[in-house]
Amino acid sequence: MSTRVVITGSGTPIPSADRAGPGVLVESDGTAIQFDAGRSTVQRLAGAGLWPTDLDGVCLTHHHSDHVTGLADVVLTRWVMDRDEALSAIPIAFPDGPLTGFVEGLLDPWVDDLEVRAAHSGHPPHPGVDARPFAAGGGPALAIGGIEVTGFPVCHEPVTPAVGYRVRTPDGVVAITGDTKVCDLLDPLCGGADVVVAEAMRFGPIEALPEHRRFILDYHIDTRLLGAKAVEWGTSTLVLTHLIPAPEADDDVAAYESDIRRGGFEGQLVVANDLDEVVLG
Ligand SMILES: [Zn+2]
Ligand SMILES: [Zn+2]
Repeated sequence: MSTRVVITGSGTPIPSADRAGPGVLVESDGTAIQFDAGRSTVQRLAGAGLWPTDLDGVCLTHHHSDHVTGLADVVLTRWVMDRDEALSAIPIAFPDGPLTGFVEGLLDPWVDDLEVRAAHSGHPPHPGVDARPFAAGGGPALAIGGIEVTGFPVCHEPVTPAVGYRVRTPDGVVAITGDTKVCDLLDPLCGGADVVVAEAMRFGPIEALPEHRRFILDYHIDTRLLGAKAVEWGTSTLVLTHLIPAPEADDDVAAYESDIRRGGFEGQLVVANDLDEVVLG
């Protein structure tokens, strides 16, 4: 038995030919859960060897568009490609708040498409989505197969609620920070995790931007603080994703690594590209 953690998107709102919107797939013993669904998630899942029909659930961290613009594609394509016509509504977990209306109304703009496809193909009607809001302050999110997922609040103000996910599989614990700055709330989320998938921003280049573009410093992880945190958490593998700025050359990757290593972290470090994966167990 093993657990696979695949970065389905290492990007951000900034368009990139090589980096899909934010997302992480955790797959363990035939159960597959997608965390966030940014742009091109369906394509990256195909790259990881999965169709949306193989997904058992989705968990969303917060309502920033870059994390959810690919969700309708996942839900629509899952139905279109359900060749056994056997799938029920996909569970989608999220902290109760703006995402509740977003998820519950996800298919509303597609009603005409769903109707004409069902009528033309004889396909059963779309089963809709199985919305699973949990308390905005965090709590149990999903438990499917051998995977148990719990949401923990993070620090992404003014975007509230925002959570990260602690994912327990038979092979270990994976923590996914979602979008956040470094704060003490990350300790219960990431402490003792075997793998931490963290968003990452190099503050140096951003601090050099014009003032009106520096607001993103308010709510993202400063890589200069993350290495020491990962040591505190006792994690053996740290995966950096949601990379701002996106590395374009080896030097840029080295700059991320250097920030983390200066914090004292000596474990496995991945500055992620799309479809990079870590295996547990
Ligand atoms: Zn984001
Ligand atoms: Zn965000």
